Amino acid sequence: MKQRSSELLFLTVCAFIIAVLSSCYTNLVAPPTPIQTILIKSSNTPSATVEVVFTPVPTETETQLLCETATLTQTALANTPNLLPTNNPDLCSEIYCILEHDFSLQRPISGNDNDWIDRFYPYGSTAGGIYVPHHGVEFNNASGTSVLAASDGLVVVAGDDLTIKYADYNNFYGNLIVIEHDLPRYAEPVFTLYGHLSEIEVTEGQWVEAGERIGAVGAAGAAIGSHLHFEVRLGMNNYDQTYNPALWLIPKQSTDGALGMLAGLVVNQVGEAQMNRQLTLEALEENDKGCKLRYYFETYAGADLNSNEQIHENFALADLPAGDYRLTMVAGKVFEFYLSVHPGKISFVSIKIP
Ligand SMILES: [Zn+2]
Repeated sequence: MKQRSSELLFLTVCAFIIAVLSSCYTNLVAPPTPIQTILIKSSNTPSATVEVVFTPVPTETETQLLCETATLTQTALANTPNLLPTNNPDLCSEIYCILEHDFSLQRPISGNDNDWIDRFYPYGSTAGGIYVPHHGVEFNNASGTSVLAASDGLVVVAGDDLTIKYADYNNFYGNLIVIEHDLPRYAEPVFTLYGHLSEIEVTEGQWVEAGERIGAVGAAGAAIGSHLHFEVRLGMNNYDQTYNPALWLIPKQSTDGALGMLAGLVVNQVGEAQMNRQLTLEALEENDKGCKLRYYFETYAGADLNSNEQIHENFALADLPAGDYRLTMVAGKVFEFYLSVHPGKISFVSIKIP
């Protein structure tokens, strides 16, 4: 009898360890590596000789990953995150806030085309260490898709960047348009930049209206496959003056109403923003709170990337359906936080790590 109870104890301990390990594994599993193909252009091509083509183009559904397990265990108290109020107490004096935000720009791609912000390489990301920190966002669309002005404004750049640099090196955007906007609430001028275009249909000095077609999607410059690269710059039309366009673009509508957004700040013990930290967000089922969809993203990975002056974030994830979510991050231990996303609003959370 004594032997049987010690066997039972041993089996119980094993089952517990397996359960803990498998619940950790679900937090640590990496996003799938995208397929990449290399095309060698013919040697008489006057510009670049090697073009890297990224396939397949990630779409909204492909970059949201179905959870491999529907069970979600409430982890121990040891995993309770070390949270703190944001560094802007006027805005949010709690560890977690639902914020109203003035989204001022229209999407530069029509809803009839793909107007979802690409989740594989969002603002501030390195796409898992593959690319340089991103100063804009991508809208993956076929070459020739209409590019629309995000707001009324004056065209200040319309051409290529072969001789004038608008990024760290020439021929980065290939063909680009920059529009200067005078937006209410902003004392400084706001610039929107549209890169890798196949067609430019405006000229410098021209006034354009919000939603007006200004050019077409392409793969010019340092593009990997055809897409629109879209930037927001504040104050000056400089590469180190970019901000996350997700915090400017009006949230998309779904059949249930406007989508919401997650933003936040990861800092160390002395309050310094932490770059390149990997986070996972899981959308939870309504009833059993099991995991429905999983999103992988990272904190801004470059010192020349900027936080929104009102929000003070160093990560953001746009266009999330309203509902309940579980945010996790590994930094010595698993940090875990449950939150809800509300239509047209920003759910903001601050995380302080060891
Ligand atoms: Zn880009």
